[in-house]
Amino acid sequence: MSTHSERDILHPSDLLIQAMDRIYNYRMTTTSGGNLSLLDQEGSVWITPARIDKGGLKREDVVEIRPDGEIKGRHKPSSELPFHLQIYATRPDIKAIIHAHPVALVAFSICGKKPNTRLFPKAWETCGEVGFAPYALPGSEALGESIAREFAKGVSCVMLENHGVVVGASTFQEAFRRFETLEFTAKTILKASVLGEVHYVGEAGLSAEKKLATPLEEFIPGAACARERILRRELSDFVRRGYRQRLLISTEGSFSARVSGDSFLITPRGCDRAELDPSQLVLITEGCEEKGKRASFATRLHRAIYQRHPSVQAIVNASPVNATAFAVSDERLDTRTIPESYVFLREVEKLPITILSEDPAKVADDLSPNFPVSLITNDGAMVLGTSLLDAFDRLEVLESTAEALINSRSLGNVRVMGDAVISDLETAFHLPAR
Ligand SMILES: [Zn+2]
Repeated sequence: MSTHSERDILHPSDLLIQAMDRIYNYRMTTTSGGNLSLLDQEGSVWITPARIDKGGLKREDVVEIRPDGEIKGRHKPSSELPFHLQIYATRPDIKAIIHAHPVALVAFSICGKKPNTRLFPKAWETCGEVGFAPYALPGSEALGESIAREFAKGVSCVMLENHGVVVGASTFQEAFRRFETLEFTAKTILKASVLGEVHYVGEAGLSAEKKLATPLEEFIPGAACARERILRRELSDFVRRGYRQRLLISTEGSFSARVSGDSFLITPRGCDRAELDPSQLVLITEGCEEKGKRASFATRLHRAIYQRHPSVQAIVNASPVNATAFAVSDERLDTRTIPESYVFLREVEKLPITILSEDPAKVADDLSPNFPVSLITNDGAMVLGTSLLDAFDRLEVLESTAEALINSRSLGNVRVMGDAVISDLETAFHLPAR
């Protein structure tokens, strides 16, 4: 599922197996639901088999449908082969298709709704407008026609009424990113709807990232010092761990760690966070990026924070679903829930997404080692730490606190800790006032 090179060198069967493993292991489909296919250069369609346990698919289980219609393999192809073929026939630009029944998107599907991907600039850019195909019998040509009619409009993500979702793309990696991003968007909307009205991004917010795209100057670094080598390993470990813990998705999330003074390591742009390796991290020194790499859009912002706060050693931008739900609704994330939350997170402010490109210095002023956490509207969370572990820990506390707050809604009113309790905590843990 590597994305740093879009040139597929894996055999189609291996690509399908790896993707199905990832979709199943992260609970984005059930064992019976879901099928994947890709169209190769010779015109063969490779598809997952019918009625085989998705938890243990092997390369030999994948079925090939030759351009002349001959079926090669030891199983029958997925019963949904007809709609895969109709999509390929309708849209020559599509070479990979993912179909599944992930729970958040199924919730939309059974209400006859589709998620609005203008929830996040990244989701809009990755998924675009979403189509909606009226119900038809699974496996039927009629279902294929219903879905292909939507793809013919130019969309790449289509909700299936009372069924699930289909996503298409020109590469398998792109299809996976779209699928995962759409499910994440749906999940966030569901969580945020518990909190109140959900806000979407206007044009200014959607183009905020483009303003950050101005390239940095490049430099050729000398030999890596021991600290850089250790940080490369630790930082890539934390990014992959964050992915596994669902604190970020494959397309979102910037982690950085200071090497020394005005020099830090940061995640590259557009890499797959699940498979990030130490060599992909980008070294930034005096505002210039390591030659030949493209650093995260958050680079200028992280630099402004490192310059303003010498004790900050690590910075994380991530989008865990529950905390992000607060970032897309008006509800305040009140940390006076349990002592751990208040001590680690302090007061969590919300900053507008446009501030990222317009006024990084303001973010550096608002955040500090004493007030290390902030939400960014229609984006996610931003967390500072005195070490990588410190920042990662705070991110986990933030997400747990947000999840507890959302879950508590079904039990009744939250009784936040009172002023006297807070004052005791501030004294006991030497927490300075803002
Ligand atoms: Zn299905």
